[in-house]
Amino acid sequence: MSDYVIAPPPQAVLEVHGSQALFPVRRVYCIGRNYAAHAVEMGHDPDREPPFFFQKNPDCLDGSGHFPYPVMSEDVHHEAELLVALGIGGRDIAETTALEHVWGYGLALDMTRRDLQGAAKKMGRPWEIGKSFEHAAPVGPLYPVVEVGHPSEGALRLKVNGEIRQDGDLNQMIWKVPAMIAHLSRYYTLAAGDVILTGTPSGVGPVVRGDRLELTCAPFAPLRVEVT
Ligand code: MN
Repeated sequence: MSDYVIAPPPQAVLEVHGSQALFPVRRVYCIGRNYAAHAVEMGHDPDREPPFFFQKNPDCLDGSGHFPYPVMSEDVHHEAELLVALGIGGRDIAETTALEHVWGYGLALDMTRRDLQGAAKKMGRPWEIGKSFEHAAPVGPLYPVVEVGHPSEGALRLKVNGEIRQDGDLNQMIWKVPAMIAHLSRYYTLAAGDVILTGTPSGVGPVVRGDRLELTCAPFAPLRVEVT
């Protein structure tokens, strides 16, 4: 057994609904502009361009139900998303068999320092500073495919303090889950433990300390997060 020169960082994990076992996370991929109405609200053409991706760090995942308002931003937005977790990796995965790679699904928020993202975009710089920061991905538990199948339609709704802000449907995704896995696997070798945040419907907007967010999408339990 080898020694480490410092204590190894903790393994990022997702809780699993109905189980004591944990899902270990390797990478967190996020797809951009995957709902037409959201592409339009962000000032883009919703035509079916090839999908594009960015990453959050696995340690951004936070299942605590608390979202500490991040530093260095005054315009932090919610993005309500379906999360896909892969149980089997691969490269050049065919769309027709892509769903066989999925272990489960859950709900997540792609919290975004929109002011920092906007400044980076304007200067042609990477989005990372706006997307990947401490606690940037509040998540609920994972639901295994054997329990929930492959959800591909149904309301995906985000309420802030009881008021509906995002009201989309999983069937509005431009790039469906099999297509996004197939596309991503042409650029990266995917592995068990990789998760994908599948994009957000329109209605993104700012949060402030004290806000209570509630993301609902059947058959998952609501994801409730308080901004602290
Ligand atoms: Mn997003």
